[in-house]
Amino acid sequence: MDQEVEKIKMSEEFRICPACGYRDGFHSMFRKQGRTTQWLFICPSCHKIFDIGFTLPLGSKHTHEIDDQGKE
Ligand SMILES: [Zn+2]
Repeated sequence: MDQEVEKIKMSEEFRICPACGYRDGFHSMFRKQGRTTQWLFICPSCHKIFDIGFTLPLGSKHTHEIDDQGKE
């Protein structure tokens, strides 16, 4: 599934949807891209996807893992 992602530049804040004007912020989604993970934002109103240039490192060693017994 290839959904269109709109690249935008964030100014002071990223809260209002540039496409439809929705004002209450965005849902998050993540997409692997090579060694990084893109952090994308979805408008809850018009469902457009935005890329404001956020990425996360892939395979972070800081992941908090808990085993089946619920012990760390
Ligand atoms: Zn929108």
